[in-house]
Amino acid sequence: MRSAAFRPTTFASALTAGLGLWTFAATAAAQTIYPLSRAEILAGARFDFKVEVPGTPPEADVVVTINGKSAADVLGKPATFIVKEDGLDQSALWIRDAEITAPGAYTVDAKVGGKTASVTWTVFATPEKRAAKNVILFIGDGMSVAHRTAARMLSKGISEGHYGGDLAIDDMPHMALVSTAGTDSIVTDSANSMSAYTTGHKSCVNALGVYCARNKSTLGHPRVETITALVKRKLGLAVGVVTNTEIEDATPAGMVAQTRRRSDYNDIVKMFYDAAPEVIMGGGTPNFLPKSAAGSKRGDEEDYLAKFTAKGYAFAANDTEMKALAANANTTRLLGLFNPANIDGALDRRVLKGGTTKRYQDQPDLVDMVRSAIDVLSRKPEGFVLMVESGRIDKYSHSLDWERAVYDTIMLDNTVKAAKDWAAARNDTMIVVVADHAHPVSIIGTVDDSRPGSRLRDKLGTYADAGFPNYPASDKDGYPATVDVSKRLAFTFGAYPDHCTSGKPFLAGEFVPAKPSAADTQTQVANEEYCGPTATRMQGNLPITANSGVHSADDVILTATGPGSEQFRGHMENTRVFRAIVGALALGAPK
Ligand SMILES: [Zn+2]
Repeated sequence: MRSAAFRPTTFASALTAGLGLWTFAATAAAQTIYPLSRAEILAGARFDFKVEVPGTPPEADVVVTINGKSAADVLGKPATFIVKEDGLDQSALWIRDAEITAPGAYTVDAKVGGKTASVTWTVFATPEKRAAKNVILFIGDGMSVAHRTAARMLSKGISEGHYGGDLAIDDMPHMALVSTAGTDSIVTDSANSMSAYTTGHKSCVNALGVYCARNKSTLGHPRVETITALVKRKLGLAVGVVTNTEIEDATPAGMVAQTRRRSDYNDIVKMFYDAAPEVIMGGGTPNFLPKSAAGSKRGDEEDYLAKFTAKGYAFAANDTEMKALAANANTTRLLGLFNPANIDGALDRRVLKGGTTKRYQDQPDLVDMVRSAIDVLSRKPEGFVLMVESGRIDKYSHSLDWERAVYDTIMLDNTVKAAKDWAAARNDTMIVVVADHAHPVSIIGTVDDSRPGSRLRDKLGTYADAGFPNYPASDKDGYPATVDVSKRLAFTFGAYPDHCTSGKPFLAGEFVPAKPSAADTQTQVANEEYCGPTATRMQGNLPITANSGVHSADDVILTATGPGSEQFRGHMENTRVFRAIVGALALGAPK
């Protein structure tokens, strides 16, 4: 939330307002059961069972059964009844850390007075035999079809209708269309969408590893077990979390966190510490530093760098240290924090030398982070699960800065290629590449400086007038040496605030499309810095409070290879991605 992804302050306040309304509505309704109906629960995975009840009926009047038996008997633990939960006129029955081992259909009935609420769950087992020793899950945050297409055009070239080759993310034997809706909305954020991949449960915007109940405390909501906890508890696997965003950001946090609010960065650092993935790499140092240290964003004196070190983690602050530590055979736990905020994207690090690259000159590339992570994780004989995020595809798309987003798509592709090369020598690693949600983006033609006229729409070629862009052939790593060419992609955004556009790349730094109005800070207006004489002034089509682009509800593409990957096919709910991963690992094998 504090990062570029959710630069809009308006987004946060809209959510707060929304949450308030929602809480009110839930209080007024009949009893609510968590997990929600149609949950698919991995056999033997832990979850918090909660029944919310309006008012303060006597405990004896609240009768909860699962398939006709007492909930406590089925879940193997006694229930706790809380009267006046959170001090309000409401009660709740809880069974924390419940678990069901027998697969099948379960109907939960919660009877209070004359009213019965019911939900059904499916508890599923996995194959007995483990197909994959290792799983590598790549997330292109916000990566949509147009990002992939543009990355293929820039990286592989295109002429006479033919591409010069396939991306590594294209060249996979299995593919699926994944839908990403959450429990509260057709449109997700990276928190609840990642949570679906890492827990198998749907959740709501801003939530990680919990169902969104009415609890006041963001840490009090009904929790579901994460893949990190599961693979460590059941199989003793190593776990890696690698991102080029802040490590506390939603996607990486989704590997370990259980909180209603993704911006609980200090709590999320503690959750990383408690979950103890063997490899943790990204940006986001300030929430590891005690309050009194320079640059800290903590409210307490906890020194998490010291705590991680005491727990046996080697610490790397830059690329050189990371590579040296990963190469050391004694390194089995590695924490790498390479930027106080997000690691600079590929276009800034490789071509433009913008962003914070002057201040942080030795930031690693995601490809090298993944190579180092695999070196460390593969020291664990039991195998590993590694999550890798190229996170700024999303953030740059919020900024309507497509060139930066597409360079980071190419970076993701290189990263996937490195993993595929590593896995090719062995047949025990499932590789999955997917986005967590889409952006409303599209390529509609080219912008050609040689076309007559001065307005952007004069320069725009569509259909036959589009032809092909003239980016230079890419270098050995798949990146064109410049994006500042005379015939560029016309890469458009379907949802935007007021802004000015010239159809040119943002060479001086990431685009800032809108700013608060001087008269009324709740209103976002075009950033005049970009409103030169040749720019086109775009009237926003988003609410006036928005200062950047937004996610879309469109499905996203998943590609996969390796043992177990044949489970990915057709259309899948995002929770089914979890199901396929735990299936390949036989995490819910029948007892
Ligand atoms: Zn986003």
